[in-house]
Amino acid sequence: MKIALDTDKCMGHARCHAMTPAAFDLDDEGYAVVTPAAATTSEDDLQNAAASCPEQAITVTPS
Ligand code: SF4
Repeated sequence: MKIALDTDKCMGHARCHAMTPAAFDLDDEGYAVVTPAAATTSEDDLQNAAASCPEQAITVTPS
């Protein structure tokens, strides 16, 4: 499974962090950062976080 975060699209809504805080942290300016724990997060949770992003900045590709 691959998780891609397009930092050009991310507008810092933090919905991904609210939905799946272990997998998505926020930097000092409030933009999303994929954490190492994302690798062990369930695909369903990651897909839900991706679906919650209004900018479609998160892409989860099943392995
Ligand atoms: S929900 Fe989308 S736009 Fe908002 S912080 Fe997360 S990745 Fe960025």
